[in-house]
Amino acid sequence: MQETAAPLALLWHRTDLRLSDHPALCAAAQACSGRVLGVVVLPELTRASPRRLGYLLQTLDELRAAWRSQGSALIVLRGKVHERLPALAADLGVREVHTAPCPAFDEQLENSAVRQALAAHSITLVVHDEVTLIAAADLPFAIDALPEVFSNFRRAVERGGAWGALVREPLAECALTTVPESSAALAEAQTDATLAAEDLCAARAAAQCHDPRSSFQYVGGRSHALARIRHWFWDTDAIAQYKHTRDGLIGADFSSRLSPWLALGAVSPREVAKEIHRYERERIANESTYWLGFELLWRDYFHFWVRRWGSRAFAARGVRGRTPCGRQDADLFDRWCRGTTGEPFVDAAMRELAATGQLSNRARQNVASWLTRTAGIDWRWGAAWFEQQLLDFDVGPNWGNWQYVAGVGNDPRNRVFNVQAQAERYDPNGAYQARWLE
Ligand SMILES: Cc1cc2nc3c(=O)[nH]c(=O)nc-3n(C[C@H](O)[C@H](O)[C@H](O)COP(=O)(O)OP(=O)(O)OC[C@H]3O[C@@H](n4cnc5c(N)ncnc54)[C@H](O)[C@@H]3O)c2cc1C
Repeated sequence: MQETAAPLALLWHRTDLRLSDHPALCAAAQACSGRVLGVVVLPELTRASPRRLGYLLQTLDELRAAWRSQGSALIVLRGKVHERLPALAADLGVREVHTAPCPAFDEQLENSAVRQALAAHSITLVVHDEVTLIAAADLPFAIDALPEVFSNFRRAVERGGAWGALVREPLAECALTTVPESSAALAEAQTDATLAAEDLCAARAAAQCHDPRSSFQYVGGRSHALARIRHWFWDTDAIAQYKHTRDGLIGADFSSRLSPWLALGAVSPREVAKEIHRYERERIANESTYWLGFELLWRDYFHFWVRRWGSRAFAARGVRGRTPCGRQDADLFDRWCRGTTGEPFVDAAMRELAATGQLSNRARQNVASWLTRTAGIDWRWGAAWFEQQLLDFDVGPNWGNWQYVAGVGNDPRNRVFNVQAQAERYDPNGAYQARWLE
């Protein structure tokens, strides 16, 4: 199929849907004189809601345009990755496939299956570390020795007070070479065919629906991530108040809202860090600008955590081996999902989640605590519901936070939220509850 002797490489995208600050792409380009094609394999059956899937498709649209602008292409396939990817790589005469997944348990298994299937065609799978704020290789401890408690992790990586001490500069976009026309045409045809599927068209439509009660509409894709950074950092200076607004429930700007773009890798945490540092130099450095970096460290912590703990990140007894509240009451769980438990603050939040795929951190903590500690329901049910619904679903932060709130994870204080007291404190005039319950 190839027109010249120079080989091609494939970059197998997962949660790294960008071309900038991308060590795996740079390595692939270096191995093949810049002749790289991108590939994404969507599963036939997804755990994502149509809205979350639609958000992913929006992100892929921009990624596809970015690959085209480099003289190459993005191939979007559907099916079993260990079948589709090796077959494609063999068709294209590829020698190396590069990838940089978030290394949670399923992704590790997927890597093994794909590696084996590629080997049958004498093709090598090269697995790189994902881009976290702090590179795994720069941690002052081995991942297996990840501190059990976040504050010990933070102290170890901050080195005297600055979260940015170990953060590398983002990499510039690497130079790619135009791929043969036949390969690009094959990529475009396969992608068009995949994206025409009926359920994917329905998912696109779901992502475009906007509930008028919501203060913010997410659109997938790197340009929207960069626009959000411009707005929240530079146009409004909202970042400079973040420490005082971050527990908000209503409004567009109480927090950065970067999580869905970070979760799919449309923007990297190092790119956000670079912008924080620029803001601190050009406008103001205060406790709020520090706090955004602090929250990105939480994200890192849970990415390393899911890698450290393997299948125990998803086990009922959690990483501490504690006996969880494990009631399996399907009716009560269903009422929690639909927002009809009778507990107004919980119901308002669960309706917001179902209607928008979004939820503030404060509301997430409350609904998770109520489900696991008050209702005593199996925490994994809640985590799975969030996985389906959240636009920003990210395996480590989701399952790690759920364990933390359910008391089987890494919270040394083992707190239980008093949901009514929380509602009085964070929704004193009831505006949030009125918005979602009426
Ligand atoms: C039960 C539960 C489940 C959660 N599931 C997810 C998830 O699937 N994906 C996800 O990105 N976050 C998850 N979080 C963390 C947090 O609620 C969201 O990251 C945050 O609400 C996103 O909004 P933001 O981008 O405006 O965050 P900001 O407050 O602006 O924070 C900036 C960034 O820091 C990171 N961050 C902030 N808080 C946390 C945290 N507690 N843990 C890890 N990273 C954090 C996110 O990347 C976020 O975009 C969960 C929290 C709870 C309590």
